[in-house]
Amino acid sequence: MYDLIIIGGGPAGLTAAIYAARGGLKTAVVESMMPGGQAAATEKIENYPGFPEGITGFDLMNAFYKQAMNQGAEFIFEPVLQLDLQKEMKTVVTGQQTLEAKAMIIAAGSKPRFLGVAGEDTFHGRGVSYCATCDGAFYKGKKVAVIGGGNAALEEGVYLTKFASEVYIVHRRKEFRASQIAAQRAKENPKVKFVLDSVVQEIAGKDKVQKIILKNAGSGAVEEIEVDGVFIYIGTEPNTKFTSEYFEVDQYGYIITDALLKTNITGVYAAGDIRNTPLRQVATAVGDGALAAVQVEKFLAKME
Ligand SMILES: Cc1cc2nc3c(=O)[nH]c(=O)nc-3n(C[C@H](O)[C@H](O)[C@H](O)COP(=O)(O)OP(=O)(O)OC[C@H]3O[C@@H](n4cnc5c(N)ncnc54)[C@H](O)[C@@H]3O)c2cc1C
Repeated sequence: MYDLIIIGGGPAGLTAAIYAARGGLKTAVVESMMPGGQAAATEKIENYPGFPEGITGFDLMNAFYKQAMNQGAEFIFEPVLQLDLQKEMKTVVTGQQTLEAKAMIIAAGSKPRFLGVAGEDTFHGRGVSYCATCDGAFYKGKKVAVIGGGNAALEEGVYLTKFASEVYIVHRRKEFRASQIAAQRAKENPKVKFVLDSVVQEIAGKDKVQKIILKNAGSGAVEEIEVDGVFIYIGTEPNTKFTSEYFEVDQYGYIITDALLKTNITGVYAAGDIRNTPLRQVATAVGDGALAAVQVEKFLAKME
């Protein structure tokens, strides 16, 4: 029996663990893979404060993990398959055991939606990226393509013009899903070029990305564009497979919280990428983790 179970050991979950364990709560983190989440798989993080030269995602997350352990958080490396939140005591079912806690923080993160074309997997991290904020600076003076037609694609496309010499926005329809203002800003930017009504067939290159091969949805004509990077913004998916029946979610499936990160279920909080938040970064996940843990402390103090 724990005071707090945290699901997910990414930056949000690890930060929550540091705060909660340091606050004297008997805390367990249940993580299906390695500690560190998406951030641990990031080659270099240059925008997390405190590291003027940048730091590898692995080193940063390893330090979070050690700090959580030093504070006394317990780690259970098993996937959470199911929750039971009907009773006052919250139950977590993993592949191997059933765990109970008085409170819970859901910090299972999100994952980018993949295009599913040839070359996407091969060149992931070698020209294929899902995060312009993270990787845009690597493309100073280079040509990049952004795939997608929503707000994220257009806004990130415009952001990439700070670095890239040309940004091709490739969208499978003639119209954008994005807001008018986002579309207008992209249209007004001289570095942005639109390739509409076109689907990506392949991302190709030798050791890294060199071109994308596109097919026009109307005429069927095939076109190649030489680029150094491909940023895929066709949406993200929250890791909510095990939670969906319980929580109020937004139209994309992200868990809705109030400003204090409370979900619709008493004693259950959500932190980081998994909740409906306007920015998904390590810094914001850390802030969420800290806030959620402190709210749990207050909730448990009231229970006693
Ligand atoms: C390629 C890439 C580069 C990035 N670069 C940067 C950057 O430079 N700077 C920056 O600030 N941000 C960057 N980000 C974003 C950043 O990584 C995320 O915003 C951050 O990791 C979110 O933290 P989180 O803890 O909410 O979720 P996550 O990091 O997604 O962690 C969630 C954890 O939950 C675990 N989990 C999921 N489901 C289950 C389950 N059922 N049972 C148990 N465990 C589960 C996962 O294994 C994972 O470890 C990048 C993201 C990507 C994809």
